[in-house]
Amino acid sequence: MDLIESPAAMHSWGQDKPGQTIALVPTMGAFHEGHLCLMRHAAELSDRVVVSLFVNPLQFGPREDLARYPRNLARDLEMAAGARVDVLFAPKADAMYAGESLTRVRVDELTDTLCGASRPGHFDGVATVVAKLFNIVAPQVAVFGRKDLQQLAVIRRMTADLNWAIEIVGHPIVREADGLAMSSRNIYLSPAERGSALALHRVILWARERVKAGQSDAAALIAEVRTRLLHDPAIRIDYVSIVHERHLVYTPTLNRDSVLALAVFIGSTRLIDNSLLMAEE
Ligand code: AMP
Repeated sequence: MDLIESPAAMHSWGQDKPGQTIALVPTMGAFHEGHLCLMRHAAELSDRVVVSLFVNPLQFGPREDLARYPRNLARDLEMAAGARVDVLFAPKADAMYAGESLTRVRVDELTDTLCGASRPGHFDGVATVVAKLFNIVAPQVAVFGRKDLQQLAVIRRMTADLNWAIEIVGHPIVREADGLAMSSRNIYLSPAERGSALALHRVILWARERVKAGQSDAAALIAEVRTRLLHDPAIRIDYVSIVHERHLVYTPTLNRDSVLALAVFIGSTRLIDNSLLMAEE
């Protein structure tokens, strides 16, 4: 596996074997098994796999965790090499945003709700960096996790709106044995907070059972989910929503595209999770 740091070198690498397909997996590093599953899946879909590792300053708010976001390049290199990755592309921030970058990519409407409401500007940062990565790497396929439901919807829409011939693949959420969705931010949790975090997956399973038993009213289900989450005083709800998986609009009556999307704070750590309610995950 090669480590490439310069965007120009990355671009040339992508161009040097014209017949071979490339799958891109954009990440911020601090790899866990969830990232590795995306990488292995990318290898099944294409001839060559590029994993980008870039803690993108543009997508962090002023009071967010940019400075303390976990970074460990040596460990990440080792893990990616074990997952049949061809290139780890790890540019420095000043190489990605040379000088003062004035251009932003913004996807309207889809970015106003859910995480976009509590993290203003976050998805402009995500869309801008992914657009740059698409241009630098020129992949045929890009793999994203369904854990970041809104990110996936935004990237799908951006790709269609800007006419990139890139297939966007959503990979199912990868969980710890006890159900907690894997995340680079889980290391922020104390043992007690990690226990509280299990409530997210537990309430998702419970909601799916409620739907199986006949609940089809989104407002009622949201109220029930909120009540259950708030049983634990360590949990502060950011949002509990039920939306269409791709359009992210509220679905008052549940249907096969309805997703329960959750964001909570446990201490100072913000966790997200989601699940389709009727369809199989
Ligand atoms: P991150 O490094 O957190 O920006 O994540 C990079 C990619 O991995 C994104 O597409 C995430 O949605 C995906 N990802 C992170 N955690 C998980 C998980 N537990 N299951 C599936 N995909 C994930």
